[in-house]
Amino acid sequence: MKHEHTDGNAELWATVFGPGHPDLKKQHKMHKLMPSAPRCRMCLVPFGGIGGWIMSKRGKAPSSRNQHYCNACDSFLQAFPGGAEVEMSILYVDIRNSVSAAEGTPAADVSKRVNGFLKRATDIITQGDGFVMAFYGDCVVAVWPPGFSGPEHAEKALSTARALREAFGEEDDVPAGTGVHTGTVFIGTVEAGKGTFRDISIFGHDVNVTARLATAAIAGQALASNASATFAGLSTSNAQTLEMKGMTEPVIAIPI
Ligand SMILES: [Zn+2]
Repeated sequence: MKHEHTDGNAELWATVFGPGHPDLKKQHKMHKLMPSAPRCRMCLVPFGGIGGWIMSKRGKAPSSRNQHYCNACDSFLQAFPGGAEVEMSILYVDIRNSVSAAEGTPAADVSKRVNGFLKRATDIITQGDGFVMAFYGDCVVAVWPPGFSGPEHAEKALSTARALREAFGEEDDVPAGTGVHTGTVFIGTVEAGKGTFRDISIFGHDVNVTARLATAAIAGQALASNASATFAGLSTSNAQTLEMKGMTEPVIAIPI
């Protein structure tokens, strides 16, 4: 990709995550056809399977600084730090009752259980065309930027939330709650530490709304915000009003 290096690179990031950058979209299309996961979060080049083997021969391998990105995308993030405000769909999913489940359980077993959850959740999100953002403890955060997931990002985030609800029900080994919201977030690069790798993160009120929706969801439940449901043309007749701690405005949530 060729770009001018400007302050903040806001225009570049607005394009990458907004309508999508033509070069990157071409790579997504090509790389999605090649097996298999795990993949670079940015260009979706495969690191696993035969595709990963072929691409490693072509010099595309996980970056030594951050295994979530290939070396080319890692260099890109280093060269063009910055971000932009983009409307997209956001999802949080986290394990319910993880504190009580960890009580009296060997730490190694807790780790195994959480890692199993993160792996399964990541697979479901990736299959749903989502961009896995971060893991916070036993929570997975994902986004559906239009430039990655297309204009139907809310529909894709909602169907992924339904798949997560089915996978992590009350009876599952790892029951989980899911929240989906659509709004404008600041998405951009963050430096993990001075001189170390850059990652991509999201910021803003709508991120917090999503986190609160996931927290409000009971085990095996997925809650969508009014914004996501409206965006996707979903009925909001079963909407509930949720008072959110620390927020002045209540959030309208629709169990999906
Ligand atoms: Zn890449």
